[in-house]
Amino acid sequence: MSNPTIDWRARARALQLNGQAFIDGRYRPAVSGATFECVSPIDGRPLAAIASTDAADVDLAVAAARRAFDAGVWSRQAPRERKRVLQRFAELILAHRDELALLETLDMGKPIADSLAVDIPATARCIHWYAEAVDKIYDEIAPTSHDALAMITREPIGVVAAIVPWNFPLIMAAWKIGPALAAGNSFILKPSEKSPLTAIRIAALAAEAGIPDGVFNVLPGYGHTAGQSLALHMDVDCIGFTGSTRTGKLMLQYSGQSNMKRVWLECGGKSPNIILADCPDLDRAAATAASAIFFNQGEMCTAASRLVIEEPVRDAVLEKVVAATRALQPGDPLDPATRLGAIVDDVQMKTVLGYIEAGRSEGAALLAGGRRAREETGGYYVEPTVFADVRPGMKIEREEIFGPVLAAVTVKDAEEAVRVGNGVDYGLAAAVWTRDVKKAHRIARALRAGMVYVNCYDADDITVPFGGYKQSGTGRDKSLHAFDKYTELKTTWIDLS
Ligand code: NAD
Repeated sequence: MSNPTIDWRARARALQLNGQAFIDGRYRPAVSGATFECVSPIDGRPLAAIASTDAADVDLAVAAARRAFDAGVWSRQAPRERKRVLQRFAELILAHRDELALLETLDMGKPIADSLAVDIPATARCIHWYAEAVDKIYDEIAPTSHDALAMITREPIGVVAAIVPWNFPLIMAAWKIGPALAAGNSFILKPSEKSPLTAIRIAALAAEAGIPDGVFNVLPGYGHTAGQSLALHMDVDCIGFTGSTRTGKLMLQYSGQSNMKRVWLECGGKSPNIILADCPDLDRAAATAASAIFFNQGEMCTAASRLVIEEPVRDAVLEKVVAATRALQPGDPLDPATRLGAIVDDVQMKTVLGYIEAGRSEGAALLAGGRRAREETGGYYVEPTVFADVRPGMKIEREEIFGPVLAAVTVKDAEEAVRVGNGVDYGLAAAVWTRDVKKAHRIARALRAGMVYVNCYDADDITVPFGGYKQSGTGRDKSLHAFDKYTELKTTWIDLS
């Protein structure tokens, strides 16, 4: 729980911010000396100058990562040894919870209560979980003939680069750091240029925990410089990417243009939340519908951005959702009572407002919100917004907005709900609310999404895979399946005849 006595503004003023890259065990400026300004969405004020790394820094980091990998200082350590160090890393993250939560909130605008209760504990839990798992996984012997021994073993891939977004800066990084480091890889983290502060900070914690030099590197910088150089690098073996579908497609091209590095994509979503007429609890469904789109300012890949309502309960659901929406207004992210914070930057805020304008001009009915808020602060805030009478194919029904905007579509039956649900390019998450267990199973099977929720939304645990169908990505983060992404399978065949 957040400590109500903490004065977060005073703490923010006292922070000494570090904007340097972390390569081969030490902080350093970009080779070019270039920096970019990191701005807080809370009030539009500059926070720190951040090293703007590019191809030269990428070369240094990849060389250090490769040297460490080949030397075996991490890659050939006993799993229980890596476990011990990663557990210490997770403990240090938790021990610095207040500081890291403050950095996350200042950098991307989410409420401090969420950074404290969700982002930092989930980051530590994830790294801890993979650390715990790694010395409990066995390799295999294939059931071949009597005069052969065919062993199937897993080996770390080598140099893994993670390119991550700004909406959950540390959690998205942890979903890759955990399995990749536990499996023995060397790692290079490229945080979003919009939220680099926590990634830079945890590099020191990784070193303090005992992760050897070169094994964990952080390269802050822009996508088209640092990110592209990593993805095109001939000595990076794997890219773990989380971000937009547009950039995800570029990753596939970069791999094809370079060394066919493994590319794992976690991309966008436009997830349908289907409430049927036989929903067991309309109050809960409506409250969940609101929180599932407005949590994290709607800047969530799994945001339930399309509410698909069966006609008989349309009015009742919308009335409750609008009431929940009106009760939720953007506030100061540094106030522990705030539940809806700032949009990450001016560009994203304008994108969201542009979609709201598109909804209006395409003829959807605006039931709540629709405007910029708290403009006097200099920060970037948007009212939680609800559109009804949205038709399939409208821009706000089809495209990921990545902001607090809900598009409600009315359907005549469950079949149409599934058709609408599946009718977009994305397939990340989906939900159905019904008291009929057969219907729930049938619809869950019919929905083309990586995660389907029945009578809930965004239920979450590190033990279950996370990822999408269609243009929401490839591969899965979380769970033991994530090890598949960061290991190669080797067959060793021994002739016993
Ligand atoms: P983005 O694609 O703009 O950027 C993601 C990362 O890619 C950043 O680090 C960025 O610097 C880098 N990048 C951008 N252009 C690049 C290029 N040409 N070459 C190499 N790297 C490049 O996405 P964003 O705006 O940071 O994040 C929002 C998106 O992330 C949304 O679409 C959201 O749905 C998605 N997301 C998906 C998941 C998931 O697990 N499926 C989770 C969180 C966010």
